[in-house]
Amino acid sequence: MDNRKNKVLLIYTGGTIGMVQDESGALQPFAMERIYDALPLLHRTEYLIDSCQLDKIIDSSNMTPEFWVDIATIIEEHYDDYDGFVVLHGTDTMAYTASALSFMFKNLSKPIVLTGSQLPLGMLRSDGRENIICALEIASCRQVVIPEVTIFFESHLYRGNRSTKVSAENFDAFSSFNFPSLATAGIKFSFKEHLFMPMPSEPLKVRKEFDRRIAVLKLFPGITPAVVQSVVRTPDLQGLVIETFGSGNAPTEKWFIDALQEALDRGVIILNVTQCKAGAVQMRQYQASCDMDRIGVIGGHDITIEAAVTKMMYLLGNFPADHAKVRDRLWRCLRGEISMEMSTED
Ligand code: ASP
Repeated sequence: MDNRKNKVLLIYTGGTIGMVQDESGALQPFAMERIYDALPLLHRTEYLIDSCQLDKIIDSSNMTPEFWVDIATIIEEHYDDYDGFVVLHGTDTMAYTASALSFMFKNLSKPIVLTGSQLPLGMLRSDGRENIICALEIASCRQVVIPEVTIFFESHLYRGNRSTKVSAENFDAFSSFNFPSLATAGIKFSFKEHLFMPMPSEPLKVRKEFDRRIAVLKLFPGITPAVVQSVVRTPDLQGLVIETFGSGNAPTEKWFIDALQEALDRGVIILNVTQCKAGAVQMRQYQASCDMDRIGVIGGHDITIEAAVTKMMYLLGNFPADHAKVRDRLWRCLRGEISMEMSTED
C-alpha cells in the first residue's frame, strides 16, 4: 500500500483573495504567509501543501504573457515533485491565464487548478476559503486525476479555456457556456470523468513563447471606417481577433471587407469570434459572413474570446515562421478549447 501523502504546490499570484484594505480603503495585495493566517485550516489537510508566490504580486488587471511564463516555469520546475498545482489568481483575468496555461502545457498529466475569490480571504463572508480548499482537494485527489488546466469557483470546476468571468458581484463569478462543468462540489465532489481531457501517453512539453502583436476588434452597429482602419493598420500587427455578431456576422459594406483584405494582404491572420456568450461562428450561414470566408478570415467556432486571444498569441509566438500552420491550428481544437475532435499542434 502506498502511504505517501499527496503533495500540492500552492502558487500565489495576487488578486482579491489575498488582499487587505489600506488606510484609504483601497484593496492592496499582501504576502503569502497571510493566507495561512487567514486560513489556519490549511495546516490540517491530509495532503502536504507547499507554497510559493510570484516575485511580484499583482492585481490580475496587470497580467501579461511574462507572468504566464513565470507561473508556467514554477510549475514546470516542480512538475515531478507534486501531484497537482493550485494557482491563486485575481478573477479579472483568470480565464485568460487558464487559457494561456492550457496551451503552454502540452501532454499535461497533472491537475492545474486556478481559483480566487470575490471577497478577500480575511473577510468574514469571504468565498475564498471554500474555493481554496476545494481547489486543493481536487488538485491532490488520488482517485480522480484531472489532467488539465481548470478553474474552480463557487461549487463548479470548469475547463480553463472554456471559462469566462461573468459577474463582478456574485460569488458564482464564472461560467462555461459552450462546455459543461467538469465537476461540482456538494457534500461530495461529483466528477464527470467522461468529459476530462484524455491522459496523455507522450511526455510533457512546455512552450513559453507568446507574440503580443495582436489586436481585438469588437464590432458595433455604426462602427466607422476610421476605427476599423486604425486597428487593422496597427504597425507590425500579426494577428487580429474580430468579435462579430451572432453566428459570425459582420457588415457587408465594401470599406469593411477592403480593410480586412488589406490586413490579410500584409500577412495578418484574422480570426472570427462571436460576441455571443453561447453558440458558435458558422461562416457562410448568412451572407454577412460569406465575404469574410472568401477572403480568408478563419472561423473561430465556439471559442471564448479569452481562449482566442491567448491561442493566437501562443501560436504566433511558437510557430513564427509558419503562418500556414498558425492558420490551420487556429481552426483546430488543440486543448479542448472548441467543440470538435482534438488535433495535435505539431
Ligand atoms: N482586481 C482583482 C484581480 O483580478 C479582482 C479579483 O481578484 O477578483 O486581481
